[in-house]
Amino acid sequence: MLINISLPADVTYILNKLDEHGFAGYIVGGCVRDILLNKEPVDWDITTNAQPDQVKQLFPKSIDTGIKHGTVTVFINGKQYEITTFRQSDYRQSDNILLLKGDLSRRDFTINAMAYNHQRGLVDYFNGVKDLKEGIINAVGDPEKRFQEDALRMVRAIRLACQLDFEIAPKTFAAITRNHQLLKSISTERIRDEFCKILLIEQPGRGIQMLYSTLLMDFILPELTCIDLDHTLAVIGATPKDLTVRLAALFLDIDKPQERAKIARNALKRLKFSNKTIDAIYRLLQEFKLPDYSDEVSIKRFINRVGQENLQSFFELQLAVIKACKPPHGFSAVDALKEQVYKIIKEKQPLTIKDLAVNGYDLIKIGIQPGVQMGQILNYLLEKVLTKPELNTKENLLNIVLSEKHNV
Ligand code: ATP
Ligand code: MG
Repeated sequence: MLINISLPADVTYILNKLDEHGFAGYIVGGCVRDILLNKEPVDWDITTNAQPDQVKQLFPKSIDTGIKHGTVTVFINGKQYEITTFRQSDYRQSDNILLLKGDLSRRDFTINAMAYNHQRGLVDYFNGVKDLKEGIINAVGDPEKRFQEDALRMVRAIRLACQLDFEIAPKTFAAITRNHQLLKSISTERIRDEFCKILLIEQPGRGIQMLYSTLLMDFILPELTCIDLDHTLAVIGATPKDLTVRLAALFLDIDKPQERAKIARNALKRLKFSNKTIDAIYRLLQEFKLPDYSDEVSIKRFINRVGQENLQSFFELQLAVIKACKPPHGFSAVDALKEQVYKIIKEKQPLTIKDLAVNGYDLIKIGIQPGVQMGQILNYLLEKVLTKPELNTKENLLNIVLSEKHNV
């Protein structure tokens, strides 16, 4: 199809350079889809008949990203572009048009299987434009076979349908339901990344619901198969677009409140989330029950347990639960706690061991050995300082340690 798409200067530079050296180059996949939808592409992928070594020669500022898949990442003006040699099954094939067709036929969905360059215009062998116009996610070829080749495509279908507000074609959807158990063969990292993309859609409810209705959720977070889905979706629908808050919200409805933080920690470890994310979610779930504290010291201990860096998420989660109640109620208790918490933080009162006027080195100088006992002493001092912030001077704290050494 001869349409003219204007491309960013860097992309034109790459395509021209390939062309000047006798290679065919096309933008391909998600970026073509996004341009046709008048959206800003997230990334620009290029497909070419040039081999990775040849690409590296043309673009010296580059690194091998997935040499197995023929991908070289090229840096131009500080941005990166992935250039991948045509995905092909027949390496003897040398006709570029057939090679491009082969590459596109190995892509997941028709709307992701289009390519473009200025010479050939839009290349659309699988009715991608039609499906884009109709808002349909259709597998390229037989969905059954395509999901058997790579089961992650089932999660991608749901992610794309929800990101774009499209429908999944009935045949493709039925193939997902039938093959959902194939997801167990997929690496956790790949599943996690697609799952996170679903969670970060403006309104992720539809995606989560589809993961349940297709039973894919059994292979993502089986811990969550028995939760009150309607309530969880209402809470998630009321959260801001934040991964930590939304992940925590998923676990809130687990029957046993005392267990849910641990269940979440194990599940998220399995999905290989970062320790920072897991720790934050664990604390949010542990502390979720709104404390009924009126005294400042208890609130300081509470801040410590949640962690200052997690307070915003804590309040966002609380508010989401309130908004999900019909009618919403309980704002005032959260607001009151929030006010007290931020007042304490604004006053820069000492709250954690790091805020103490002494550190481990100071204690070593007065004869305390590093190890368990030192930790106990620092916690003991923190307890004192939480109650009486005025005690937080080096002299006072060292005196406490020296005079009460036997008690600590
Ligand atoms: P996003 O906009 O989030 O980047 P995307 O569709 O571009 O979405 P990518 O993961 O960047 O997704 O993949 C780029 C392209 O590679 C896709 O558009 C598709 O053509 C192809 N692709 C990606 N994953 C698969 C897969 N599992 N099977 C087949 N083709 C795939
Ligand atoms: Mg992409």
